[in-house]
Amino acid sequence: MLIEERVLAIRPETSRDWTDVELLACVVAYRDLQREEQGGARVNKTEKRNSVLRNALSSRSAGAYEFRMANISAVLKELGLPTLGGYLPRGNVGAKVSAKIISMINLVWQRQNVPELPTTDHQELQTRVLSARQKLKDNPAALPPINLLSGTRTQSTTTRFLRDPNVIAWVLQVAAGVCEVCAEPAPFVRDDGEPYLEVHHVRPLAEGGPDSADNAIAVCPTCHRRLHYGYDKEALRGGTLEKIARLKNYPKVGEKFL
Ligand SMILES: [Zn+2]
Ligand SMILES: [Zn+2]
Repeated sequence: MLIEERVLAIRPETSRDWTDVELLACVVAYRDLQREEQGGARVNKTEKRNSVLRNALSSRSAGAYEFRMANISAVLKELGLPTLGGYLPRGNVGAKVSAKIISMINLVWQRQNVPELPTTDHQELQTRVLSARQKLKDNPAALPPINLLSGTRTQSTTTRFLRDPNVIAWVLQVAAGVCEVCAEPAPFVRDDGEPYLEVHHVRPLAEGGPDSADNAIAVCPTCHRRLHYGYDKEALRGGTLEKIARLKNYPKVGEKFL
């Protein structure tokens, strides 16, 4: 046996990341114990622990199990949910594990007002905001949310379109500080002295529109948001195409990747 192999063999098990199955087994065990306690039954924590250790946690120690149960107490406490006596909350689980435990708690507890999980994906965020707003409408007295993952950064691979600075500059030059949709002057002056307008693609790049002057307009932030999110965005788009002679109505096609 190589030295490295021997070192690996005696490495404490805690150095190995917990699998979802292992975490979920602890969350389920916690919920079972809590149900028993709430039902007035005598709760046998040791028996439950041994059963979990025999099954899903067969490669973990009793200490590791106890530690996870204390982690679950910490997350429940943060969520404002009751904890089991005997498992004093122990935090410092790390953002990733914490997020996992939260989603598992939501799943296992089948909570009425399951919070939406944070995300870096802009599109996904909009979807989750919509769903969170619906839940708030059903439960207007909900307490302010606790974001356990506040300040968390995560690395993600994103695909972005190349943008041509010459197109942006030319369109801004033509607009001369006036929104090409509402014809109002730019709402403020940038710190470099230029009027603040944003360049929008009339046919979005993601829908196959080109990054060219005949597909780009300079607009104020309000009109820009409206073009993206307004109930009347299609009508606004049509009106803009009619009004500005240089624009071409590009059809919607599939995505292109470079
Ligand atoms: Zn405008
Ligand atoms: Zn835009």
